[in-house]
Amino acid sequence: MTGITDHLGEIRGRIAQATARAAVRGGQARPVTLVGVSKGHPAAAVREALAAGLGHFGENYLQEALPKIAAAGRDAVWHFLGRIQSNKTREIALGFSWAQTVTSARIAERLSAQRPHHGDPLQVCIQLEPVAPGPPGGPEGAPAGSPRAGCPRREVAALAALIAGLPRIQLRGLMLLPRAGLDAEVLRMEYRAARGLLDELNASGHALDTLSMGMSDDFEMAIEEGSTMIRIGTALFGART
Ligand SMILES: *Cc1c(COP(=O)(O)O)cnc(C)c1O
Repeated sequence: MTGITDHLGEIRGRIAQATARAAVRGGQARPVTLVGVSKGHPAAAVREALAAGLGHFGENYLQEALPKIAAAGRDAVWHFLGRIQSNKTREIALGFSWAQTVTSARIAERLSAQRPHHGDPLQVCIQLEPVAPGPPGGPEGAPAGSPRAGCPRREVAALAALIAGLPRIQLRGLMLLPRAGLDAEVLRMEYRAARGLLDELNASGHALDTLSMGMSDDFEMAIEEGSTMIRIGTALFGART
């Protein structure tokens, strides 16, 4: 036994408590979708979580994800969570239901053009560039030439408007991956700012229902700050190898 079923039950309990706290603070309770991040874990782990009732799974690397989706995937909803290189958009548009890491018009246009015409449009989030800098001595940024780590705030409204006009992708909201090693209060402000940006987009005419933020170590705080989708790897599946 790997304990995935037990972990899922515990996490669901903690989500319910955090959702109740969020409702006390901020008005209406929002449903929270749990995405199990299965990178670094085998298809058997996905099958166990599926059998325990989890429906959404996330992966960061295509090479790892595609065989796993083929082996375990039929009934699951798959979210792409890694950086999107433009030469990988076709496989993402074909193999996934969601891409949470759209950061540019070029990637959005390619995903829409390459999404098959039968079936649902690809569900997407704009990944926000994190604002808070990591602590000194923390991990370096991405090497030059790799896809950017997020859409800068000043470009989000224009990118959202562009995506809204594309036929084969549907904008659902925003995704945030904060830099590692932040103090809890800095992290909370980062999450709060993302919520504010989603609210601004909706006030300007969008109807976005998704704010994807919160991972194993901080999902309760993220829910308190308005997350509607959390991405949990370690707390569900155990440490990655
Ligand atoms: C790996 C990863 C997660 C899960 O992280 P845990 O700390 O293991 O829960 C969530 N989101 C993204 C984008 C990831 O890359």
